[in-house]
Amino acid sequence: MIIDSHVHLPVFEDASLSMQKIRLHADMKNNNVGKCIVISDSELTSVIGTMDECVDLFYDDENVYVVGGISPFFDFEIQLEKLERYLIEKKAVGIKLFPGHESFYLTDERLGPVYILAKKYDVPVLFHSGWDNSEYSAADIVAQTAEKYSGTKIVCCHCLYPNINDCLALTKYENLYFDLSSVADDRNTFLQIKDDITALITAAPDRVIFGSDYACCNQKEHIDAIMGLELTEEISNRVFCENARLLYHI
Ligand SMILES: [Zn+2]
Repeated sequence: MIIDSHVHLPVFEDASLSMQKIRLHADMKNNNVGKCIVISDSELTSVIGTMDECVDLFYDDENVYVVGGISPFFDFEIQLEKLERYLIEKKAVGIKLFPGHESFYLTDERLGPVYILAKKYDVPVLFHSGWDNSEYSAADIVAQTAEKYSGTKIVCCHCLYPNINDCLALTKYENLYFDLSSVADDRNTFLQIKDDITALITAAPDRVIFGSDYACCNQKEHIDAIMGLELTEEISNRVFCENARLLYHI
């Protein structure tokens, strides 16, 4: 089975939340994706769904799980309390931070309660990395965070794209995971970085998980790209399914 551990609600004209849910399920079926994790926005209104909207849409869905986005800029304390309730009720399976999309560093002192909450409920903290404004979650900052919160599982989304190679030195932090979302966004770049991706998977076969960034990126292209890496069947099964299953308890 394929688990896509990094998707967002699709955005299209005149879409309602229930239509977005239907389209997500249709695309999962077309692409042979058995389960996925929808990451909500951290903002309080959003076309890709707020934390509350995503939880309401999927809390009783057998195949779709929710990671709640949170931000020190948007009702932080209220949202964090709500998120704790969702974690207790198992309506959320992780927490997402957006350094780079938002101007705070992964090491920002205000985020302490987020890492502590994640540890308490044994769910991961995901963060945006790479792309534009990558300094907010650059490799040295990731290293500091992984070390300071060594009891919290932390997921580096996009693997510092396109500098996948910089993840290799970070694999020594056993609480640090890597999700492959958006790495196959551009065909030419992918050809340049595919050996680095294989090296990362080889260095941490239990901590690299498949994700596509569906809705922002093409799910099928991501599946085909990672399938094309010539991983052994056992490693491929870990990356596409088992690692996410264990990390997110799904
Ligand atoms: Zn994303």
